[in-house]
Amino acid sequence: MKILSVNAGSSSLKFTLMEMPEEKEIASGLFEKIGLSDSSYTIKYNGEKIKKDCPMEDHTVAVEKLMSELVDLNIIASLDEIEGVGHRLVHGGQEFSESVVLNDEVLDRVAKYNILAPLHNPANIMGVKAFMKVMPNVVQVGVFDTAFHTTMSETEYLYPVPYEWYELYKVRKYGFHGTSHRFIDMTIRKYLNNDNLKVISCHIGNGGSITAIDSGKVVDTSMGFTPLAGIMMGTRSGDIDSSILEYMASVTGKNIVELTNDLNKKSGLLGVSGVSSDSRDVEAAAESGNERAILAQEMYARKIANYIAMYNNLLGGADVICLTAGVGENSKTMRKMILEKIASLGVELDESKNDFRGEFRCITTNNSKIPVYVVPTNEELMIAIDTMNFVNQK
Ligand code: ADP
Repeated sequence: MKILSVNAGSSSLKFTLMEMPEEKEIASGLFEKIGLSDSSYTIKYNGEKIKKDCPMEDHTVAVEKLMSELVDLNIIASLDEIEGVGHRLVHGGQEFSESVVLNDEVLDRVAKYNILAPLHNPANIMGVKAFMKVMPNVVQVGVFDTAFHTTMSETEYLYPVPYEWYELYKVRKYGFHGTSHRFIDMTIRKYLNNDNLKVISCHIGNGGSITAIDSGKVVDTSMGFTPLAGIMMGTRSGDIDSSILEYMASVTGKNIVELTNDLNKKSGLLGVSGVSSDSRDVEAAAESGNERAILAQEMYARKIANYIAMYNNLLGGADVICLTAGVGENSKTMRKMILEKIASLGVELDESKNDFRGEFRCITTNNSKIPVYVVPTNEELMIAIDTMNFVNQK
């Protein structure tokens, strides 16, 4: 069966069309600047790529365009071939602990959490509504970034702040990247043929989060109430002393919104290095001797290593550590730096196994107390699997 995986942003729509259960990617693409004057789309299929400029006033027009292109390009013979559409939804609060079939009533429940993810949830919902309109008889499934993390206990998800903040305003740790961490956990448990693994999953991309998982259930994760918390990222600070905000407001005159924006968009690798948020640029600058780039890299690796050590303790000893996403899958430099900083856990990198990009591979020696695997993530596939499971239940 054919399943579409969709990620809708406020002015974009990313899709992957998959043949399931074969897990074969048939086509993928991106619709950009929807609702703006210079909207366009790219579709990749069969080793080819088309790019077209096309006015698209809203997501419904984009979805209609996508459907007509899929037929016109002979990627599918008719729309009836698509049996399910899976949507990435960022925030399901503490209510949605797994993926769900979407209808108007469920969407209203999801919309309650727009206040917790104002940049993402309304856009995600807009995407779902567009597909519901164009494909009213096809199963639409919502797959939440937060869902995998709902197994955390209150000792992990509560902040040590006045309890009413939680009771009245829902302030707690939610965690994100859940679909990626779930995919990594599923993949490594299947590979090692062990359902009771203690896994530390490290999603290190432009955004980044580390998750401690025991027997398929999240124990703790590094992102928090928002994706700003945890490790240092491309442009996000990760954990800092929150009093810095009040101090910076008083010395710069900036307000809390501007300062939070600085923490989200101007911090992390970019803020410290002053070079770029892209780890490739920072690596290149560090190699040519740029001191702030060297410092940024060192801090970046340390924050990750510290979280791994903390989660190793929390799990009572991890069975396996997985590295994934843009940096984890591709940067041998950063992998080496991180592993060197967790040597005290008995982790031993095998340098001869580390010189590669983007494959599933173990990179530690046979003596390493905890094996470390690079596991390419595939959130689109995870969304397609969940969607297929609902289609099969119909
Ligand atoms: P996101 O999905 O959060 O936008 P990705 O998972 O795509 O991010 O990761 C993007 C990061 O991966 C960038 O910092 C980029 O530099 C890094 N990356 C991608 N390819 C490589 C590479 N070959 N070497 C080092 N870093 C890489």
